[in-house]
Amino acid sequence: MEGLGSLRVAIDGARCIGAGNCVLAAPSVFDQCEKEGIVVLRQPRPSEDQKDVVAEAVDLCPSGAISFQFRPRSDGVS
Ligand code: SF4
Repeated sequence: MEGLGSLRVAIDGARCIGAGNCVLAAPSVFDQCEKEGIVVLRQPRPSEDQKDVVAEAVDLCPSGAISFQFRPRSDGVS
């Protein structure tokens, strides 16, 4: 389910070098603009089950253009 909201992703397009690793790791979260290949954020607040692939995208990004925050739910609902 989307929109539960404890995962937040941010990009810095000025740092992006268009390598595309983020899109390969998490295609539902990241895309690239057709003209320059710069990262486009498709989902700034993806569902929690995307956490591992977003973390992988951060690890694979050669320019440090991606960051994310994950805050586990504290209300006991999973
Ligand atoms: S992996 Fe990093 S440098 Fe490559 S397109 Fe994604 S944000 Fe840009």
